[in-house]
Amino acid sequence: MISFRTRTATVRINLDECVAPDCGFACVKACRLYGRGVLKIEKGKPAMAVTEEEAERIDNECLACEIHCYWYGSGAVSVIVPMEVPP
Ligand code: SF4
Repeated sequence: MISFRTRTATVRINLDECVAPDCGFACVKACRLYGRGVLKIEKGKPAMAVTEEEAERIDNECLACEIHCYWYGSGAVSVIVPMEVPP
């Protein structure tokens, strides 16, 4: 499991559900295209390209990793955004 915080959310990548390379590493490509390149390919799976501290600082929370894994992969990526529910 990869898990890291962004400014307002938490990104989780369940490597047990990851089907790389069949997906073409959609999450990594999406992060490079729409995000800030916090993911890389390592030993045939997605991995952190930066430290957790750096990811929290630079991640632009574009959600592209989750969407592209849903479209081309296995739905292994979750971006958890806490919601404030008014009383
Ligand atoms: S897009 Fe999903 S299935 Fe593909 S490498 Fe990323 S986490 Fe794994």
